[in-house]
Amino acid sequence: MRAERLVSVACGFRHVVVLTAFVALGGFAIAAFFPVGEARADGSVQGVAGAASAAATDPAVARPARQASQGGGECVYSTSVWHVAKRTVVDRRTVRKSYAALTAEERDPGEPRCSVCESDQVRIDPAELGLGGLPGFRVCHVFVEPVKAALRALAKDPSVRIDSITGYRPGRTRGPIVDGVRTWFSNHSYGTAIDINASHNGLYTACDVKHLTSGAVRKCRLQLGGRWDPEANPRETIVEGGAIHREFTRFWRWGGAIPGGTKDMMHFSITGY
Ligand SMILES: [Zn+2]
Repeated sequence: MRAERLVSVACGFRHVVVLTAFVALGGFAIAAFFPVGEARADGSVQGVAGAASAAATDPAVARPARQASQGGGECVYSTSVWHVAKRTVVDRRTVRKSYAALTAEERDPGEPRCSVCESDQVRIDPAELGLGGLPGFRVCHVFVEPVKAALRALAKDPSVRIDSITGYRPGRTRGPIVDGVRTWFSNHSYGTAIDINASHNGLYTACDVKHLTSGAVRKCRLQLGGRWDPEANPRETIVEGGAIHREFTRFWRWGGAIPGGTKDMMHFSITGY
């Protein structure tokens, strides 16, 4: 499926998180440095803390939070890996294990309360927030309230149109390639990232531009999704200072603002990667 391919690959380029990493990506290299303290020493700390207290009081999210923290119960998730040459997901399978047996890579390095487990995820129905016609999606229980608040605000804003939302989707779609496939979980795997309006906010490489203008971005390499053109599609396009950017950067960072040559316009997450 085209859409699934698109979002799966999108995650293959991001979130070199918490570690110093040099990742070769089909002929070019990204070097990223993101120490934990720095990643969390900004406004996102407050967003996370606020979300945590919301999670504690929301009965809908109390169960998975308790389950994870106690280290009991079963963790189930369906996953796959991204085959770079075939440009598709392979090795689909369902993993079942106890929470106590979760490895470090099965938890988000920036928010360990969010894991690959389905029971750490909460389904959001956009129609309940005023966004009819969009399928439900899942995010980690820690971020349910801030994500809902952002979408509720955007649903009321006539200058904005949301036509797609993607959240939780476990899969190894980033990191080094071994035997043709990616080896690291994307941050969508933990429900700690969201893609908005992918068909108007593509993933670009070769895009180390100082100012994001449609003229500058036109020279970048569009890898996935649709062209980013704020003038042509003002309601769907994510721009710095625009309504979609404003709402989601209250607690996350935008993939269009990460340093270096990759610009993931559709993507918001803890670090932006
Ligand atoms: Zn994404």
